[in-house]
Amino acid sequence: MDSHPECLFCKIVARAAPAQIVYHDEWVTAFRDIHPAAPVHVLIVPNRHVAGLNELAEAGTDLAARLLLAAADVAHREGVHQSGYRVIINTGADSGQIVLHLHLHLIGGQHMRYPIG
Ligand code: AMP
Ligand code: ZN
Repeated sequence: MDSHPECLFCKIVARAAPAQIVYHDEWVTAFRDIHPAAPVHVLIVPNRHVAGLNELAEAGTDLAARLLLAAADVAHREGVHQSGYRVIINTGADSGQIVLHLHLHLIGGQHMRYPIG
């Protein structure tokens, strides 16, 4: 697996750092955000290290599809697929991206305003 030793989310994928994992398969791992912004706040990450959305093309369309499909799957598992949810990918400094391992924020369980920012 393409893992970066200093990357927090690589460590979570490898079970070398603690997290509340709610779903995993051969492509992706999903775990609860440590500072939830809503009743449901799950991060969906590729198992291999991809720094962000700008680097996803190199990783391939299969992985891109798997990430999106996993988000919908986790929404179903978390019981928000009917009530609604939001998927956010922060990319770069202006977005506030902190962790440089691609992650989809799946947020739901309450009504959300739009637009944000
Ligand atoms: P971003 O600003 O998009 O890079 O978001 C990073 C997210 O990772 C934030 O929502 C953090 O609360 C979350 N986070 C940071 N460390 C952990 C951790 N150890 N376990 C779960 N979530 C984390
Ligand atoms: Zn990583």
